[in-house]
Amino acid sequence: MKYKTSNVLKNFWTNTYLVWDEISREAMYIDAAFPHENLVSEIAKYDLKLKYILNTHGHGDHIGGNTLLKETFNAQIGIHKIDAEMLFNPQKNLSSRWAEDVISPKADFFIEDEVELKLGEKIIKVIHTPGHSAGSVSFLVEELLFSGDTLFAGGIGRTDLPGGNYGELISSIQKKMFILPDDTIVLSGHGPQTTIATEKIENPFVGLAARF
Ligand SMILES: [Zn+2]
Ligand SMILES: [Zn+2]
Repeated sequence: MKYKTSNVLKNFWTNTYLVWDEISREAMYIDAAFPHENLVSEIAKYDLKLKYILNTHGHGDHIGGNTLLKETFNAQIGIHKIDAEMLFNPQKNLSSRWAEDVISPKADFFIEDEVELKLGEKIIKVIHTPGHSAGSVSFLVEELLFSGDTLFAGGIGRTDLPGGNYGELISSIQKKMFILPDDTIVLSGHGPQTTIATEKIENPFVGLAARF
C-alpha cells in the first residue's frame, strides 16, 4: 500500500493521508482536514480512483475537506456511528469554537469495530478506539496504523472534550494498539510518525516510561 501525508489545515496541522492500492489504483483519504485544491489534484497526479473519504473521528480539524472531495469524486464518506452527527453539526464537531463552521455531508456508511473495507484486494481493518471521542476509530492497513487523535508520537489524545474518556483512551491504546506487531508504523492525526515498539517503551503516558 502506498500513502502520502499532507498538512492542508493551518494552525492545527492535521495529518491528511491519501492511501492507495498500486494495482487497482483505488484510493481513500483519511481525515481530509481542509478543502485544499491539492487534495483534488493529487488524485489525478497519481492516477487514482477515490473510493472512500474516511474519518478517524468527527472533530472539525479532521473533516473539513469532506465536502470538496464528495462533490468532486462522489466517494463514500465513512465514520463511526457515534461520531456521525458531528459531521454536520459545528457545535458538536467543535469548529464553532474557532473561526469557521465546518459542515460535511452526512455519512454514506458507518464503520464499526472489526469491519473490513477494501481498496482493490488490500484490506483496511477498522479498530474502534474510543477515548478521545466516543466514536474514534483507527485504521490498520498492512503494517500501517492510522491512529487519529488516539495515539501520538510521545503523546496521547486529549480527553477533556465532549465524549472524551481517559480510562477508555488508555484501554484503547493498551488493549487494541499495543497488541499489534512491534514494527507497526503509527501514523497519527497530528505530528510525526512512530512505531508501536517505540510507544510501548517511550510513551510517557502509556509506555513503560510511564511506570517509573
Ligand atoms: Zn480530535
Ligand atoms: Zn485533531
